Amino acid sequence: MRTPDIENFAKSTLIALDMWRLPVNPFAIVKEEGIELAPGRYGPKFDARIEFVGAERAFILYYRTAQHGRTESRVRFSLAHELAHFYLPSHREYLLSGRSHNSVIDFRSRNPRENEADEFASALLMPRELFLAEMDKRRRSFWTLSDLCRLADEEFQTSVTSTVRRYCQFDFEPCAMVVSEANRVNWAWHSDSMRALGMSHVPAGSRVPGTSRTAGLWKRLEGSDSLDAVGGLVPAQAWYERPYREELWEEAMPLGYTGLVLTYLTLQDPGSDD
Ligand SMILES: [Zn+2]
Repeated sequence: MRTPDIENFAKSTLIALDMWRLPVNPFAIVKEEGIELAPGRYGPKFDARIEFVGAERAFILYYRTAQHGRTESRVRFSLAHELAHFYLPSHREYLLSGRSHNSVIDFRSRNPRENEADEFASALLMPRELFLAEMDKRRRSFWTLSDLCRLADEEFQTSVTSTVRRYCQFDFEPCAMVVSEANRVNWAWHSDSMRALGMSHVPAGSRVPGTSRTAGLWKRLEGSDSLDAVGGLVPAQAWYERPYREELWEEAMPLGYTGLVLTYLTLQDPGSDD
């Protein structure tokens, strides 16, 4: 399904449920749909899974709870991801045929079905119009990573990764995000206006550039498990071959204890007045 179609599908789902307002509560949706919840500890890598049990004609949603090493926001995103498998027609067909899978959520997977479910989860928890209205209310010209974390936590109650990605997707300013693991790039996402400035690609699998703030954070993580963020100006060429800008503002933070680091790149230096 194309992204705009997923967006519309999520919107009409919320309207049909009479839940078109923030924060969207996936637990309430699960309850409304009569899906059985099976919270638990499960394995450390486990996020969630939904199954259709034919004998009982029931859907069961297993998930790792917030008490067991997941943030509440991440759990909500996992639930919304499973709701994609429940609602999107081809996903539902797959479940009804008796198949299921342990989900890899929050844009960590390269499987198109998982990506589609993450797209749906983002659109469900952060509908375009409601997201834009929320940003409008705050009238800021740019956002720092810690601002976006607060927005994720307080307004949308969803994962930081999905919130920052959504912000980049709506292109409020030229910006990009990179998720890395063990000092290597997992994936990156660029806003359209960032692409227009010649900054459009950070190859997956490549090493985090040595002169970036993120590389400094990875170095620190070798000897410490502090979750503190880092930030500062870097030459744009640290990340891009032919950028139309000299410098970038770079912020990076560990995504809890997942072993992942989120990097946020923008043109704005929060310390400057423009
Ligand atoms: Zn899944």
